[in-house]
Amino acid sequence: MRPAGVGAYLPAGIAMKAPATKADLLGLLPDELVLFLRGLGQPRYRAGQLFSWLHRGAAFDEMTDLPKLLRSRLAELASAGTLRAEAQETAPDGAAKLALRATDEHLVETVLLPHGRRTTVCVSSQIGCAYQCRFCATGRQGLVRSLTAGEIVEQVVRVQQACHPTRVTNVVFMGMGEPLANYHAVVKAVRLLNHSGGLHIGARHIAVSTCGLPDGIRRLASEGLQVALAISLHAATDDVRSQLVPANRKHPIAEVVSAARAYAERTGRKIAFQYVVVPGLNDTPDQARRLAALTHGLPCIVNLIPCNPLSNSEPTDPRSAGRFAHLLRARGIAVAIRRSRGAEVLGACGQLRSRLIGQKDAGRAEARPAKAR
Ligand code: SF4
Repeated sequence: MRPAGVGAYLPAGIAMKAPATKADLLGLLPDELVLFLRGLGQPRYRAGQLFSWLHRGAAFDEMTDLPKLLRSRLAELASAGTLRAEAQETAPDGAAKLALRATDEHLVETVLLPHGRRTTVCVSSQIGCAYQCRFCATGRQGLVRSLTAGEIVEQVVRVQQACHPTRVTNVVFMGMGEPLANYHAVVKAVRLLNHSGGLHIGARHIAVSTCGLPDGIRRLASEGLQVALAISLHAATDDVRSQLVPANRKHPIAEVVSAARAYAERTGRKIAFQYVVVPGLNDTPDQARRLAALTHGLPCIVNLIPCNPLSNSEPTDPRSAGRFAHLLRARGIAVAIRRSRGAEVLGACGQLRSRLIGQKDAGRAEARPAKAR
């Protein structure tokens, strides 16, 4: 049980997750930790010490430069992270997927992707997702709930602990969930990950990937952050895109690309358009021509992705991505063909969770029915 009165130590606007849940200090910025510690009669400088320990994944009793009495008080009142490791799978290419169990017993997926001198962590922003993209395992699970900023940051902290002494250099919000549908927690997590007193991951090395929510894109542009933006485009016409990304029925391509232009203008960042190649559907000369018109004058790159095999979908012929890349390059579009890494560890979002739920929680009604979009 949370001791009576702990809420008095929390800065205004910091919500408790549940009445019986301790405050997760991993989700607090240094200024918020100052207020929390002030409630315990602690000087300001303790916040910097605590923040640094928290982002190294330390438990309170390992924070050796904090007084012993304070450490035991913190352990009574708060938590230093809330997730516990449930499973890990590693692929021959070094990619690894972690399943972390939250305090409410839901599973959170995180993927480690080493590539050359970069080490990228792909984090989840929600458990499940409401957006039902056709090729996505998470979309089939429906939305369970959004993650807190602390739960998002903890995924990176846990991976950093697991891959030490290699340093995590990049974070991408491409795991479970739609980041812009969990806007406040995601932006706060970016600020926490970027903070020089913690993991200090450069904002330019953090990418937010969205299925295309124009209001969220415009709002993110105004945050003064330099994060990269990736947009799941997957088609150049509304009729085709709506088949792959149901959110397109509410937010058509023209609105999405207009918001992308605003983002590029405001931040100076190039937009990455994600494009899963579905042969015969979205890789035609007509789609290439329309894509060139849509992106004309917009600093962007189109990432072609051979579809990650799911048990109930057809594997993609890798040659079709090459052919479509040729069509796009001929129209002056910058293109990259992305390898579908970590397929061996069920690298598409939601797949490990799907399987673990199937194995361990059979019969439990974990996911709500997906919302129609
Ligand atoms: S691709 Fe992203 S937005 Fe679409 S259903 Fe999957 S998690 Fe949700």
